Amino acid sequence: MHMVLLGPPGAGKGTQAKRLAQSLSLAHISTGDILRQNVKEDTQLGRQAKGIMEKGLLVPDDLVAKMLDERFNNPDIKKGFILDGYPRTLPQAATLDEILSRKNLKVDLVIYLNTSDDVIIKRLTGRLVCSKCGANFHIVNMPPKLKDTCDSCGAALYQRSDDNEITVRKRLEVYKKEVASLIEYYEKAKKIHSLNADLDPRIVLDQIIKLSSTV
Ligand code: ADP
Repeated sequence: MHMVLLGPPGAGKGTQAKRLAQSLSLAHISTGDILRQNVKEDTQLGRQAKGIMEKGLLVPDDLVAKMLDERFNNPDIKKGFILDGYPRTLPQAATLDEILSRKNLKVDLVIYLNTSDDVIIKRLTGRLVCSKCGANFHIVNMPPKLKDTCDSCGAALYQRSDDNEITVRKRLEVYKKEVASLIEYYEKAKKIHSLNADLDPRIVLDQIIKLSSTV
């Protein structure tokens, strides 16, 4: 299974990808997570990406493509993968097909997590992320048992620097500009299925698992 999760920031791509990776034994590839790791480690890529990410804009395609190509050299992709946060533009979709075809692979299924703007703003401005295992919490909807502490691993929770309302709105604007052409691309390829991601994440997860079993 080679699956792409498409949807606005806050649609739950990361949450679903983590759970799916676990239940279907797939590699989870999040370009946002890889970029944040690079920022944290202060690599050359991280230094180039940091300011762009904080503004809610897209990191240039060539930088992300190189990073993804390297990620695909990891043997864990042999078991299949879920891509979360890539592609985000039409040229990125073409790059993905090109990288995969070099490895005799293809995208099997694209899930579009359709989400309304007010749900997105509420989810993201209240989101807390574990600094160690990446688990997500929410100040109101899913508070951790112990303040600012991860229920799963006990590490500290933090708020992403791009999860403030101004940057979230910018990320949404960037997303909306690009997504229509991506949807069209995958509709032509007959690979995309749309789900209502305003619903409870458990319902959405079940629906994705059902769809993946039909491929
Ligand atoms: P979200 O989807 O919630 O905005 P991500 O963690 O996927 O969060 O991405 C955070 C930021 O990382 C984006 O706003 C963008 O700056 C950068 N980024 C992630 N994936 C890509 C990509 N495929 N192309 C360009 N920039 C990316």
